[in-house]
Amino acid sequence: MTVLTPATWPVGALVTVVLFGLAVGSFLNVVILRLPEGRSLWRPASACPGCGTALAWHDNIPVLSFLALRGRCRTCGMAISWQYPLVELVTGAVFALAWLEFGPTADFVVAAVFVGALIAISGIDARHRIIPDVISLPGILAGVVASLATQRVSWLDSVLGILVGGGVFLAIVAGYALVTGAEGMGLGDVKLGAMLGAFLGWKALLFALFVGILTGGTLASVLLAVGGVGRKDPIPFGPFLATGGLVGLFWGERVVEWYLSGFGR
Ligand SMILES: [Zn+2]
Repeated sequence: MTVLTPATWPVGALVTVVLFGLAVGSFLNVVILRLPEGRSLWRPASACPGCGTALAWHDNIPVLSFLALRGRCRTCGMAISWQYPLVELVTGAVFALAWLEFGPTADFVVAAVFVGALIAISGIDARHRIIPDVISLPGILAGVVASLATQRVSWLDSVLGILVGGGVFLAIVAGYALVTGAEGMGLGDVKLGAMLGAFLGWKALLFALFVGILTGGTLASVLLAVGGVGRKDPIPFGPFLATGGLVGLFWGERVVEWYLSGFGR
């Protein structure tokens, strides 16, 4: 008898991981919507913000329900934010990447927790312009515990990552306050930087910071140039830093080692 395991049935395992990721993404949508408002994540069940009708289970299936309803509430016809299917799809896709990279290991579990936290933080920062301490602070601790447990990143690299990630943003915040005399950046980015460092270790963190600052800076420049935003409009940096964290998780160590080895020479 063939026992179905990830090794004997790799496609099935991957499909299962994607479905699991879509379901987790659906929960992250609830976190993004409710956590900043201090509402319970568990009760009541999801309802339309327009008419308050509780969603039936078949109207609450990740991605498929959005497509079946053509993006509108069944009862009142109010448009459903495209944030919902986007968060679900991104979570499913990133879980698949993590599975392909780490397979059925503790590293996969750590990666799933890390990317779940990053996606929630991105959504909350984009919507509410805050990075919640209730995710980032336990995240710093979780990163160190994960490094002790799996040793994919050594505990020393993890602790150095916290110091570098937190330190870089602390310097930016202090510098900005000195130059402008105003508090333009909050400490949320400092704690998120420290959390990235804890999970990634200082080497992959450097690449994550590079990617985050490059993508965030590029988009901010483009928006300024086309007049989409004014110079004073704050652009939430969390989603870019989180994107850097994802890239750092999958490719950071390799890129930094390739760089340190003189580009593979
Ligand atoms: Zn409605």
